[in-house]
Amino acid sequence: MISALLVREGQEPKVLDMPYLRARRARAEITAQQWQCKFCGKAMSPRMGAIRAWYFAHRSEPSECPFETESERESPQHQALKRAAGEALKHHFGDQVDSLEYEVRFPNIRRIADAVVTLKDGLRVAVEAQLSPLTLPRLQERTHAYLIRIPINLCRAATSEIRCVG
Ligand SMILES: [Zn+2]
Repeated sequence: MISALLVREGQEPKVLDMPYLRARRARAEITAQQWQCKFCGKAMSPRMGAIRAWYFAHRSEPSECPFETESERESPQHQALKRAAGEALKHHFGDQVDSLEYEVRFPNIRRIADAVVTLKDGLRVAVEAQLSPLTLPRLQERTHAYLIRIPINLCRAATSEIRCVG
């Protein structure tokens, strides 16, 4: 997971993501802080190796975490694609973007979108990065879930392009 809740005494917990942290904070500072999973509330450790992109991992088995069941299995490739898709989406909408969030849960359709941009006019656009092949009916079903239950556009992200459907 590339986002987590920062928990500090006397302050509201705050969601931060690794691309943001990596650009602005020192490794020692990130390690010294207390992080929690924003879905299940369990403790998370920052992983900041030399090879893989930085991410957060549950300290214990995440078996009861919604992230396990409601999002795609997370590999380094999936994390990289997620980040690239989020950044491409932000770039695409430019000045219209109000915020970019990673790993956003939509409980009514039991899915966690990899990245969501919220535009200044209130429209939200979700991306799910998909590495394993997905059949057309499954793609349509998933897109339909986002479009019908919540006012959101779902874009499919491929390594080199983002294509919006619906
Ligand atoms: Zn969790």
